[in-house]
Amino acid sequence: MERTVIEFNVAAASYPKPFGQHCLGLLLACGLALACHTTPVTGRRSLNAFSRADDIQLGREAYAQVLAEAKVVISGPAREQVVRAMTRLSAVSDDSGYEWEVNLIDDDSQVNAFALPGGKMAVYTGILSVAESETGLAVVMGHEIGHVVARHGTERMSSSLGLDTLLSLLNIGDYKGLAQSGLEYLVNRPFGRAQESEADEIGLVYMARAGYDPREAVAFWERMEALQGGGGGPEFLSTHPSHETRVERLKAKLPEALSIWRAAGGGGSP
Ligand SMILES: [Zn+2]
Repeated sequence: MERTVIEFNVAAASYPKPFGQHCLGLLLACGLALACHTTPVTGRRSLNAFSRADDIQLGREAYAQVLAEAKVVISGPAREQVVRAMTRLSAVSDDSGYEWEVNLIDDDSQVNAFALPGGKMAVYTGILSVAESETGLAVVMGHEIGHVVARHGTERMSSSLGLDTLLSLLNIGDYKGLAQSGLEYLVNRPFGRAQESEADEIGLVYMARAGYDPREAVAFWERMEALQGGGGGPEFLSTHPSHETRVERLKAKLPEALSIWRAAGGGGSP
């Protein structure tokens, strides 16, 4: 069976980078329709038309739509690992108000995972062999939790869908309609490079806080790179942040992550 390496929402630099950099001017221009959000861990300011409560409702709707078409793994050691990693990581994340939930989806052809706004996550069985262990899973899932707390999904919808459409659906509380309009942006289209790096950074800190050895993040991405073998196809290559750059960035953040990990009791007694 051919394996599709979608690589959890990584890629496409279509996102307008300066979006979050002129909060005040944009807020005035939009009549305060958008609100500024400060990203945990990185401190970046971003604009979002959605509230956290909207994120949760939208995520619930979109998740129901995804799961309705998925073959969910309901028991077994892999599911247990995924659920345990979610419990440990979400406990140390910076927002406890989200509705964290993860499901393992039985599809070995997908080397993929994604998270929806508000904390709903899917991990595909195809990524298990690359993750290799619960710590490897924590790399993937910490990254996805990073997307959630940074609110990348609705940040992206805020800039990608027409503001009029968004606001009219938000005003009438049509989360089902929002999920239908936004699912493509939330699941099928990869995030931009800046968001991927941000999710990496947050994920690295969270896995360390949760007691997972952060050095595994570097090892995991090196395995992903080996899996690609440079043959990811033109679309993948044109939009994907290079693994090398990603690994270099992670290595640069590693000393800080290691001290967080040791403070959390990682590695046993010094
Ligand atoms: Zn990602």
